[in-house]
Amino acid sequence: MEKFKLWEPKTQPDILGNDGSFGNIEWDYPTFVEKIYEPLRRKYPDYIKRHSIGFDTSGEYEMWAYEFAPENYTKTIYIQSGVHVIETDAYFGLARVLTMIANREDERLSKVRDNVRFLVVPVVSIWGISKRGGYEEMMSKDRYNFSHNAAHVNANRDFFELKAKETVNVINFIEKYSKDICFAIDCHSTTDVVLGAYLLPYSDGMPESIANKLKHINSELYKKHPTEIPNLFMGEEKYYPTGALTSTYNAGITKKFGIFALTIEHNDYIYDKKLGTSLAMTLSVELIGNHLIQISEDEEFIKTDCL
Ligand SMILES: [Zn+2]
Repeated sequence: MEKFKLWEPKTQPDILGNDGSFGNIEWDYPTFVEKIYEPLRRKYPDYIKRHSIGFDTSGEYEMWAYEFAPENYTKTIYIQSGVHVIETDAYFGLARVLTMIANREDERLSKVRDNVRFLVVPVVSIWGISKRGGYEEMMSKDRYNFSHNAAHVNANRDFFELKAKETVNVINFIEKYSKDICFAIDCHSTTDVVLGAYLLPYSDGMPESIANKLKHINSELYKKHPTEIPNLFMGEEKYYPTGALTSTYNAGITKKFGIFALTIEHNDYIYDKKLGTSLAMTLSVELIGNHLIQISEDEEFIKTDCL
């Protein structure tokens, strides 16, 4: 089979709250949803629906999932982001890719819009992104020093322990659609150089032919953006047992529901040492967009018993 041809997004706007920005890194969760997902839903009411999936652990915030469903879709993909509260480029990057798909901003994305239903949890750690402080605080603190939820547990590991209400809400939502979901993606963006330039943990037991296709994208992106920091994308998940949806250790959705999953992650600090810049957003959109397009276009990503 022909190798996947990389999709090349145009340079993306930053999320620094300026004129022409796509958003503002400082927004709390209700503002983020109100400014980005809600205008899109109002623009395309037949295409986009939203579902309340419960409240966070503290009871302060209502948590939303979105359904992007074209009339005649042929597969369903679950996608989430914002497990880690400092990973702004990932959850804004996902929002930006979905905006481009909804608006049919290019031909390949337009095909995705016609054929795929996306079930989306835009942010998992909704309390964390609302309470963590603004840009200065994020840049001054160690990435591990932020609480993701009012239960103060790591939202990644919690997909096994289920101590935070947010995680339970997500698992319940996935369970409702588990027969339909063909594939699941968890979007991150690391700021820790130890974790490499691009990371790709994926479900144990995934057929090698599929895993190789996923690795191919990361490999091409690493070639396009070379750095002296090694690329750890080839690490199987047993070497990196923390991906929320994929991990053996935390028994995410693969073990629970038989859905293959992928965690995608790029390291914005290697490339520009800042959060939310145009470069960081472009790298995030490029990574998320390419994986979404590949999984959408390639029939091998349809699980035999899913829709
Ligand atoms: Zn993360």
